[in-house]
Amino acid sequence: MAGNRQKSPRETAAPKPSTASEVTNASATGGFAPTRRQALFGLAAAGAATGLSLNASREAQARSASSAHIVIAGAGAGGLTAASQLSRRMPNARITIIDRQEHHYFQPGYTLIGSGVWREGQVIDSTERFLPANVDWVRADIAEFDPEGNRVVTSTGQDIAYDFLIVAIGVHLDYEAVEGMERGLIGSHGIASIYAGPGEAATSWRLMEEFIENGGQGHFGRPASEMKCAGAPLKFALLTEDRLTTRGRRDGAELHYHAHNQGLFAVTPVNEKVRQIFENRGINARYEHVIHAVDPGNKRVTYRTPDGLAEFDYDFIHLVPPMRAPDAIVDSPLPWQDGPFAADSWLEVDMHNLQHRRYPNIFGIGDINGVPRGKTAASVKWQAPVAVTNLIDVIEGREMSASYNGYTSCPLVTRVGTAMLVEFDYDGNLTPSFPFIDPLQESWVSWVIEEKALLPTYNAMLRGYA
Ligand SMILES: Cc1cc2nc3c(=O)[nH]c(=O)nc-3n(C[C@H](O)[C@H](O)[C@H](O)COP(=O)(O)OP(=O)(O)OC[C@H]3O[C@@H](n4cnc5c(N)ncnc54)[C@H](O)[C@@H]3O)c2cc1C
Repeated sequence: MAGNRQKSPRETAAPKPSTASEVTNASATGGFAPTRRQALFGLAAAGAATGLSLNASREAQARSASSAHIVIAGAGAGGLTAASQLSRRMPNARITIIDRQEHHYFQPGYTLIGSGVWREGQVIDSTERFLPANVDWVRADIAEFDPEGNRVVTSTGQDIAYDFLIVAIGVHLDYEAVEGMERGLIGSHGIASIYAGPGEAATSWRLMEEFIENGGQGHFGRPASEMKCAGAPLKFALLTEDRLTTRGRRDGAELHYHAHNQGLFAVTPVNEKVRQIFENRGINARYEHVIHAVDPGNKRVTYRTPDGLAEFDYDFIHLVPPMRAPDAIVDSPLPWQDGPFAADSWLEVDMHNLQHRRYPNIFGIGDINGVPRGKTAASVKWQAPVAVTNLIDVIEGREMSASYNGYTSCPLVTRVGTAMLVEFDYDGNLTPSFPFIDPLQESWVSWVIEEKALLPTYNAMLRGYA
């Protein structure tokens, strides 16, 4: 167990907490109070600005001497980041993290594997390496959430009570929601999908190479559901075009991108820029085309359109599945009951303070949150300190003091060697971290951030240093 490991000097040297109240009242809410400005650095941008980011967040850190039991559901980007932050800020708390995943995967690297820039092993790490010594790890899935009883039940039958719960269990990739599709088909019949994991991303690169060699009809697109890293499908289309061009095979391929609505990107100036790039590079954009079915044997794909079903031949398709909450959340009382996030059962949290709207001792971090935008690791970097700070405020009986503004970012790779560092908030405002990087300009600096700075910054985030 992680809890049996020796504490590192860093972990034992946590500053003394400033307050010492015990948790007794899990239902203390504290209203939402817009607060202090936090360091405005996204995950990618922070790679070049870690020092500044650290100082700003340290200043803002509230602590607690409470011995509450905090359960964290999920040990991915959000769960590990929360565990690291809580372990320092609540040294006396009992912290339990629940996830069966022994490996930790750096998902932003999947795009680079799928385009032959990185190898599979570069994104694979171990969960244990990022767990602080004072966090207990239960290696199981959560099968049941019981927020009325303040308990969860694991797939191995363990019944675990909590005082506070952080939900960070990510998304379910619903490949089966596309008629004729299942996850096991990735890598055959021209079907690529970098979303499923590092192995599938590597297989996607193999298929892309075959496509470069043989040419034909290339299909790309995104689902109509909320999705993690909405930039990745665009990046994959652009990288395919770039690989075809640099190998001198561009003339042998037609590329078609299928947008679920009338735009390629949710933020207007970025949408316009991507539209121009597609036009310049001969990528045909089809709007309001949502994938409905694949017929792998005949290499046919069908889209739902406002005019009915539209069917095409393909030779190479990058299939991004619809995404929804994992079953354990779907089957629980925790999702939104109505509104835009109800259909796919996203967690009902307040979009600013990240507290569950009906269960005040529950907070959400990351992809599972039913909030506009924000399904990126960059959002996790911003959401985790907000959820942890507000959780501590609730424990201490104070008004919640932290607020999330929807910040998210995406180094939108346009070729091997160039990217645009796009950062924006809930309102669709561009929020560039660096005055010298134009977010709408393709530049090698943004590529270096994607290729070199993102992984170390991400790892620092998992250790609570961001
Ligand atoms: C192809 C691709 C490209 C991306 N590119 C970028 C990028 O360029 N920039 C960026 O910022 N982000 C990017 N992302 C998104 C980023 O990786 C995610 O937003 C981030 O990992 C979300 O963190 P999370 O903790 O919410 O979910 P995850 O990191 O997915 O973790 C969820 C965890 O929950 C666990 N879990 C699931 N169900 C249960 C259960 N029932 N019980 C217990 N545990 C459970 C899982 O095992 C997993 O460990 C990309 C993602 C993909 C797939």
